[in-house]
Amino acid sequence: MKIYIDGKFHGERDAKVSVFDHGLLYGDGVFEGIRIYHGRVFKLKEHVERVFHSARAILLEIPMTPSELIQATIATCRANKLRDGYIRLVITRGIGSLGLNPRSCKKASVIIIADKIQLYPPEYYQRGLDLITVPTTRNLHNSVNPAIKSLNYLNNILAKIEANNAGVEEAIMLNAQGYVAECTGDNIFMVSKGALLTPPLAAGALYGITRGTVMELAEQAGIKVAEPNLTRYDFFCADECFITGSAAEIVPVVKIDGRVIGDGKPGPLTLKLTEQYHALTKVSGEPIN
Ligand code: PMP
Repeated sequence: MKIYIDGKFHGERDAKVSVFDHGLLYGDGVFEGIRIYHGRVFKLKEHVERVFHSARAILLEIPMTPSELIQATIATCRANKLRDGYIRLVITRGIGSLGLNPRSCKKASVIIIADKIQLYPPEYYQRGLDLITVPTTRNLHNSVNPAIKSLNYLNNILAKIEANNAGVEEAIMLNAQGYVAECTGDNIFMVSKGALLTPPLAAGALYGITRGTVMELAEQAGIKVAEPNLTRYDFFCADECFITGSAAEIVPVVKIDGRVIGDGKPGPLTLKLTEQYHALTKVSGEPIN
């Protein structure tokens, strides 16, 4: 595997960062997870735009332009001869002193890892997932805004540990007002009376790129899409539920906190949107060659 670090490719064993990098010392940095399908990088422009927004929010200057970052990402896929896979784009604050002042870091580091994808087991998609709500509350906007895809994922990791301790794969996180925000690494949707609903971004969700794509697909199919504040009750009484993310794509949810959702099987709209999403991944994206 060839890993891009600041303009150069390194072998897996030599791809290293300094112990003084504030990405390691403080989780000071931003990242993206991107899919490669059939020799094309899916939604690359959208991911690059989001990483620039995350960086802007934390006053991190990415030492390249968006189009240079797009080119570097494509070059990394090409160097690894990938047709299908997963890209991790990481931008750290860079090397600085031990103090937390980011001004001691002279230049941000850009790391691009393009690898094979570790897919979720097929039974998640066929049978559907069980979710629980966990006690760890989603960060407030005025702390680390959840819209920032930062390297500081402890809020989500704590929730993930709580889910795993309870024997489930994913968790629903509530915000400080008690509304559903999203999951630990995925956005969440529900279907009620034919309409597709998902928490508003202000509820503490990431501006998910899969979320946006699914909403577009639903609108194109004439389905009403709305983003109201949603409670656990709304999800318990939903006809269908699913979660979305670049890695997970669309995963049906069949149980939440012990309540069976709909008829306990992946719902028809969930399956239809999954089919449309897969069709889109076959034809769209930035070509690698
Ligand atoms: N929410 C969180 C907290 C995430 O980390 C992610 C990405 N893994 C998502 C939602 C899904 O976002 P996207 O569809 O852009 O991958």
